[in-house]
Amino acid sequence: MLPIQELYPLLSTPRTVVITMHQKPDADAMGSALGLYHFLKQLGHKVTVISPTNWARWLNWMPGCDTVVDFELNREKADGIMDQAEWFFCLDFNVLQRTKNMAPKIRSLSCTRILIDHHQQPEVASFAYGVSETSKSSTCEMVYDFITGSGHGDKINIAMAECLYAGVMADTGSFRFPAASAAVHAMVSDLKARGLDHTQVHENIYDNFLENRLRFIGHVLLHRMEIYYEYNTALIAISKKDLLRFEIKTGDSDGLVNYPLSIQGIKLAALVIDRDEERKWSFRSKGDFDVNTFARKYFEGGGHFNAAGGRSSASLDQTVQDFLEAMKQSALELQD
Ligand code: 5GP
Ligand code: MN
Repeated sequence: MLPIQELYPLLSTPRTVVITMHQKPDADAMGSALGLYHFLKQLGHKVTVISPTNWARWLNWMPGCDTVVDFELNREKADGIMDQAEWFFCLDFNVLQRTKNMAPKIRSLSCTRILIDHHQQPEVASFAYGVSETSKSSTCEMVYDFITGSGHGDKINIAMAECLYAGVMADTGSFRFPAASAAVHAMVSDLKARGLDHTQVHENIYDNFLENRLRFIGHVLLHRMEIYYEYNTALIAISKKDLLRFEIKTGDSDGLVNYPLSIQGIKLAALVIDRDEERKWSFRSKGDFDVNTFARKYFEGGGHFNAAGGRSSASLDQTVQDFLEAMKQSALELQD
């Protein structure tokens, strides 16, 4: 993988570009894709964002979101656009498998694949150019670096600022996590100077849910959260019945895994959701417990040191048993 800086001189020649991100895109995935979309369009490229799956309805406010093609919903259209691509940007994921059903198609294309990502252990052999830095707060910060690094900082308009800010805000826990570096704050300062209304972005993301989601959180915290104090661990398991009862849609469970971490002493929080196609795990940790390694070892996943995900094809009950076993095997790292 060549350094992404080698693309800078090539940016001035218009190309047909596709941008994609991980399945079920979150604010960082969607924000970075749309931030880059607005930038490349200004340079005269023909750009389409294709999402591997649908996304949370509370991302729809992002400027340009109405142009994003949902691969699962519009497979033929998406395939046709991908066939034309000369450049294929892959944002906010480390392995092509994170694009789910789109991965075989991406592998089959002969276009130039470019990676911009901050997850651990990227599949670099799949990309011609790219940047992978786990120390970066978010892919949005990396897209900002790409734009300013290429000498086009003056192209950052309010639409781009809103998209990029949303991702940095989400991935830093509203500027709380250690990755909220001086560079992140300098970026925010620059976006503010360009006219960003940050309060509006916070409201768009955090005050934009429907009543059912709040009721669902109440239900889950009361009835579905188990605490294993001996292992400083909390587990939430959500059944299909729960999802149906509260009419839970994509994105409605985002952030839920963080709640148990606010309990004194809890080092590991795990959440599993019984989706149709798989049991989807989310892991969060505090301090020195490495959930990237944990997710990789036990649940075919990965991510970051303190935030990772994984999957299981076993039943919900079985995968919960598997988790409890994995927790016991990790006793040394979990116990004080
Ligand atoms: P979340 O729990 O919010 O879905 O994911 C937490 C972090 O882990 C995110 O950065 C996400 O991109 C990453 N992640 C989630 N699921 C997987 C997975 O199955 N494999 C890998 N490699 N990373 C994942
Ligand atoms: Mn991210």
